[in-house]
Amino acid sequence: MLQPDRETRVEWTKTVTAFVEDFIEGLEAAPASSPGTAFLSPPPAETPGELAELLATFGTAASQAVETAGPRYLAYFPSGGLYSSVLAEFLAQATNRYTGVASTAPALVALEHSVIRWMCDLFDLPDGSGGIFTTGASLATLSALHTARQDRLGAHDPNGTIYVTAQTHHCVAKAAHITGFAPERIRVVPMDAHLRMDVGQAQAMITEDRVNGLKPFLIVGTAGATSTGIVDPLNDIATLAAREDLWFHADGAYGAAFQLTDRGRATLDGITRADSIAWDPHKSLFLPFGTGVLLVRDEAKLRAAHVADGDYLQDLDHGTGLPDYADLGPELTREYRGLRVWLPLHLHGVAAFREALDEKLDLARHLRTELTTIDGIEVLPSGLTVVVFRGTDSERLLKDINGSGRFFVSSTRLDGKFTVRMCVLSHRTHREHVDEVIDLVRRWRA
Ligand SMILES: *Cc1c(COP(=O)(O)O)cnc(C)c1O
Repeated sequence: MLQPDRETRVEWTKTVTAFVEDFIEGLEAAPASSPGTAFLSPPPAETPGELAELLATFGTAASQAVETAGPRYLAYFPSGGLYSSVLAEFLAQATNRYTGVASTAPALVALEHSVIRWMCDLFDLPDGSGGIFTTGASLATLSALHTARQDRLGAHDPNGTIYVTAQTHHCVAKAAHITGFAPERIRVVPMDAHLRMDVGQAQAMITEDRVNGLKPFLIVGTAGATSTGIVDPLNDIATLAAREDLWFHADGAYGAAFQLTDRGRATLDGITRADSIAWDPHKSLFLPFGTGVLLVRDEAKLRAAHVADGDYLQDLDHGTGLPDYADLGPELTREYRGLRVWLPLHLHGVAAFREALDEKLDLARHLRTELTTIDGIEVLPSGLTVVVFRGTDSERLLKDINGSGRFFVSSTRLDGKFTVRMCVLSHRTHREHVDEVIDLVRRWRA
């Protein structure tokens, strides 16, 4: 019963594929968001159900949502979810290989490792660098913070202090909380007029904290802030970190992928000096949610912070020369996440990703420029593909844009004031969509 015959499997796959095709073709016309009320599924019955019926239930549930996969989703960080990645996931789950320890599937681990190596090379990380695919940047940051603590403080030291800015993503505070640091051990460094870390102030705070018996050990530079897309002065932060012997973590959850482009590489100057980099392929490589990565300058430090053993693992061979991913992160049994990055990169070629990212940079610049020409709209400084602005009544403006059903955008607070925020990042978003949203704002009246 749990192993359907070939005919049934083919039939099921056909049914699901047809559903997916209709879904993808419908994205261009689909409403940007559809209201819904959570309806409860009955508990699973003792007897078998019908796939078509269950798929209809899923379809109804999936349609009552913000259309995050569509071309008019400009909120938070859009990522359409490349179809090639979906197929990779199907293959990975169907073969269901164990890749926590390399010896049980060495060639597959080598495939995954080749992507990590390519990523390390993109950031000019040296021999001995490495990393691991995670579910997202939050988990990558947790592992980075834990590794930094082990490396710089030796063990847990409640006096360890971490330097961030008010624009740093909350995953750093969350990771610090989980790893046992009191909230006051997170030191919020003032920013300059462009919302970038004021590195001179960071130096002053570190010096003063040392005098007061605290143990500065980690500084976080953001490579593309969530609210604004703005990049911290990473090079200056790297210099400060080297001088003060701090671990330098670069949060490139959103921005790291722009290293593939010439403009991005210039903007991210200094990221190559980081001790660790968090990066979300489920943002700026257009992959489905659940795909993050942590890169580290020294893989041995990541291993030292995570390795563990048990008698039940004594049969496993650790001598393959490949990374045993179970030793590099909190998970023992893990998904084979590498394939959903490997297949798209090989199938489409790296140039396709570079061109798509360049297109998004152009579109964001176009959006910024055009919004500036609209009466009553104040465009604020932003970076990469994020655009932030205010209208005469920004909250109404946001409501009206989302109420149109054509677009879904989000907001943030800058200088304590409500600010509309758009991000162009989906591989499905093109010039015509951006022109349409510009038109919507142009025609808007408070
Ligand atoms: C999205 C984001 C995160 C958190 O990443 P998740 O993948 O959602 O866990 C961290 N930092 C920045 C700058 C982000 O934009």
